Amino acid sequence: MQNYDLLVVGGGLSGVAAAVAAAREGLRVLLVERAGCLGGAMSNCSVYPFMSYTLTDTDGSKRVLSAGIFAEMCRRHEELGGVSERGWQPEIFKIMLDQMLLEAGVEILFHTQLIGAVTEGRRIKAVRLAQKSGTVEISADFFIDASGDGDLMVFAGCDFQLGRESDNLCQPMTTCFKLSNVDLKKYKADKPRLQELYKQYQAEGKIKNPRENILIFGNLGEGILHFNTTRVIKMDPTDSAALSKAELEARSQVIEMYNFLRTNSEAFENSTIISIASEIGVRESRKLRGVHTLTADELINCVDFEDSVALGKYDIDIHNPEGTGTYIYRFKPGEYYRVPYRSLLPKELDNMLVAGRCLSATHEAHSAVRIMPICTCLGEAAGVAAAEAIHSGKTAHTLDVSAVQKKLVAGGAQIH
Ligand SMILES: Cc1cc2nc3c(=O)[nH]c(=O)nc-3n(C[C@H](O)[C@H](O)[C@H](O)COP(=O)(O)OP(=O)(O)OC[C@H]3O[C@@H](n4cnc5c(N)ncnc54)[C@H](O)[C@@H]3O)c2cc1C
Repeated sequence: MQNYDLLVVGGGLSGVAAAVAAAREGLRVLLVERAGCLGGAMSNCSVYPFMSYTLTDTDGSKRVLSAGIFAEMCRRHEELGGVSERGWQPEIFKIMLDQMLLEAGVEILFHTQLIGAVTEGRRIKAVRLAQKSGTVEISADFFIDASGDGDLMVFAGCDFQLGRESDNLCQPMTTCFKLSNVDLKKYKADKPRLQELYKQYQAEGKIKNPRENILIFGNLGEGILHFNTTRVIKMDPTDSAALSKAELEARSQVIEMYNFLRTNSEAFENSTIISIASEIGVRESRKLRGVHTLTADELINCVDFEDSVALGKYDIDIHNPEGTGTYIYRFKPGEYYRVPYRSLLPKELDNMLVAGRCLSATHEAHSAVRIMPICTCLGEAAGVAAAEAIHSGKTAHTLDVSAVQKKLVAGGAQIH
């Protein structure tokens, strides 16, 4: 059986950051990804753009809260031509991630899905993986679960929470899509009228999508708009039958929206659907119930955790799991929060950390810290911690967190 120092499950931004950080600390790293590319939700679900990670203080000064490897990714994406006056290019980000992993010496197994874990006491010994050719087992000294849904932590027997605590309902799922050939000038002028008309159509039962408004992003180039506006509720994102229904329902909402826009606005008369994400986007599913569960109160009170490994300022942003409406708590200028190392740490295991969306947080806190910049920083922290554990011969529980923090800061990360 092949053996690695570290095996990372999931090639989303958190998994990539974890793998790169650990490889740069000298670990032999394998990253396992069920899709054929890196980027996770950004690539598979066309999630765009990065939600805000720059703090504007009361005096107007700026501070980038998600730095380190995330800042490097942004810089390298720009260097590859991903940012220009023509707009932002998510596809170039994908290629840049390949380059970062290969340069760091990480081995990659695409089209490989984690399907089980072999544990012994408080340690994961190996993972079971499904490939075209059958199943294989690969062992490692340390593991990072960056699968978004927390597949490894569940297979390895960790305590977890699906969705919100009261009824297990998760934030809605969304299939993102893009239109090209939109007359952006006309669209800008028409936007308020369209939003009103959308509500009227909804009230008349002509629009089935329960989302309260049309959520659109631009800056992707001439005539292109990105829609993050379908909404599928009350489905378990970890159940394939439910996910299948969700995919079908979301795509029917895509065509519903396209027809609504085309028939009601000259701006969309000649538009074309140029992409529908190949997978529905999952905002929330399983979250670790780890050593520390991050709460909304801790975010709102900007609690200064001693073992902080990442910062954020993005809103508490809960898309209603039951239908229409979005709850938003906005942080005031100058306010930011921290994520502690203990929210990546399972109670049950000594050689695994989680990173990214499956961290230990309440439904409310999760709605803020789930954004891509923060997930990337959590991945970097987990990767550095894995290296620290292996080099010091300690466990995820006994390692020196201050040594991890020092390395993160030396790499440009912001942690306090
Ligand atoms: C619709 C939607 C809109 C959003 N909007 C924004 C936004 O505008 N801005 C923002 O910053 N954030 C946004 N987010 C949040 C953000 O995209 C995610 O929370 C974040 O990308 C999660 O990163 P991750 O690395 O933890 O997980 P993911 O990006 O989900 O990556 C997990 C990876 O693991 C792989 N994987 C899963 N299970 C297995 C397995 N068993 N075996 C092998 N591989 C596996 C997956 O294929 C995937 O590549 C949005 C999310 C959604 C769903």
